[in-house]
Amino acid sequence: MINPHPGLPELEYVKPASLSEACKFLEEHDGTAKPFSGGTDSFVRLRDGVIKLDYLVDIKGLDGTKELSYDPKKGLTIGAAVTMNQVVKNKDVIKYYPILVQAANSVASYQLRNRATIIGNICNASPAGDTIGSCLVLDGVLDVTGTTGKRTIPLNTFFLAPGRTVLKTGEVVTSITLLPPPAGMAGVYKKLGRNIISDLSIVGVAVIGYPSSKSPSGYTFRIALASVAPVPMEALKAEAILSEKKITTETLALAADFAMDAVTPIDDVRGSARYRKLMVRNLTREALTEVWTKLSK
Ligand SMILES: Cc1cc2nc3c(=O)[nH]c(=O)nc-3n(C[C@H](O)[C@H](O)[C@H](O)COP(=O)(O)OP(=O)(O)OC[C@H]3O[C@@H](n4cnc5c(N)ncnc54)[C@H](O)[C@@H]3O)c2cc1C
Repeated sequence: MINPHPGLPELEYVKPASLSEACKFLEEHDGTAKPFSGGTDSFVRLRDGVIKLDYLVDIKGLDGTKELSYDPKKGLTIGAAVTMNQVVKNKDVIKYYPILVQAANSVASYQLRNRATIIGNICNASPAGDTIGSCLVLDGVLDVTGTTGKRTIPLNTFFLAPGRTVLKTGEVVTSITLLPPPAGMAGVYKKLGRNIISDLSIVGVAVIGYPSSKSPSGYTFRIALASVAPVPMEALKAEAILSEKKITTETLALAADFAMDAVTPIDDVRGSARYRKLMVRNLTREALTEVWTKLSK
């Protein structure tokens, strides 16, 4: 019989003194070392034999990774070592980014959120990552450090395939910065899982909307979808129709249809591709209706 949990193999825990030391170590041990933050993905994958490593490099506490700060001009910066529970308890996040609180609170359990980080959720690059959609619709930009220096990567260009990103060998994400919330913004995260806690999403829908003089409809909507394509995605055609046409019940329903048409889900243990498609339509319509109700009050 196959043992699905062969157990945590022996490996070395590495605690570098600086970010540059961490990057150098990761570069020198390409293929056998990985960075980790909360370890809630890494340890499970190592235990189950999905990945094999000789070293786990702890980046918690290195230069800037503990930052959690809000600036009205710059937006919200979340360091790589900041846990989801720290994020959801932060007064600025509660005030300005309630969609992120909702999304982070939908991840697993309170205990797991004491370890799990937003950056870990992003770098794991699972299409099911619950906090990624909120970061996408808020134009998240990642700060990255490597052996050759620093660079920024817009989140919407970060994902290549399930588990694969544009990060190069030796690069570590130190933080993400989200846009300051546009005036009058309303948002919601809708997650469909097999149970209320501790399961990945079958479908996840993150929606924000706000008044906008640039849109003929008078409003801009952003819609991101989880678990329905190889990478987290935005429903661009649905967003466009909401920008162009007067917002009515019919327009919201049409946008939800466009969102459904844009996804390319797979069948898996959590749900069939067909079910996922239909749920994208239903959840997107629900989310848009909720956001529109708040905007039109
Ligand atoms: C029981 C259980 C339930 C779960 N439920 C959910 C759920 O409901 N929704 C959900 O979205 N997820 C869920 N997860 C997955 C996981 O908890 C999240 O993805 C979490 O946010 C990962 O964060 P972490 O800090 O623990 O990541 P880690 O395990 O530390 O890292 C994850 C990946 O990112 C890489 N990485 C981490 N930090 C960096 C960095 N700074 N720079 C570059 N690469 C980095 C690591 O090398 C690794 O590949 C669940 C996991 C478990 C075990």
